[in-house]
Amino acid sequence: MNDCIFCRIVQGTVPSAKIYEDDAVLAFMDIGPIIKGHALVIPKVHYATLTDVPPDLAARLIAVVQRVAAAQQTALQADGVNIHQSNGACAGQVVPHVHFHVIPRFTNDGHRWNWAATKYEAPAEMTALAQRLRAALIP
Ligand code: AMP
Ligand code: ZN
Repeated sequence: MNDCIFCRIVQGTVPSAKIYEDDAVLAFMDIGPIIKGHALVIPKVHYATLTDVPPDLAARLIAVVQRVAAAQQTALQADGVNIHQSNGACAGQVVPHVHFHVIPRFTNDGHRWNWAATKYEAPAEMTALAQRLRAALIP
């Protein structure tokens, strides 16, 4: 996909600061870091969202996410790490090539997620949704 910025990074026609590369997975620095050291992990083949990715490849992506998170802790002395992953424009996905954000966190780094918990009307509402999800799970 020539109009995909991450495919162009994979092809090498757009520069990136690479952290890790193998035949299927690439990790590189995000140019607009939430926190300095923020990295991205992508498959080399273009898939739009996480649910499009074959499970074997998803497992390989997660293994690299784990290694990059560990490197942020050892090399950057991160105190913690956030993994962020968006699917679809309504979820905040801007680049439509599936990617995991790996964001190092430091005590008192000042960043706050805008995460406001809500409530179900009643327990039955939650259990009904759970039932619908159980029925829809692909084995
Ligand atoms: P999302 O909003 O989850 O789609 O995130 C897309 C991310 O890609 C943003 O954090 C951008 O800063 C990052 N990004 C966009 N273009 C580049 C690029 N050329 N090199 C590195 N990161 C990029
Ligand atoms: Zn792509």
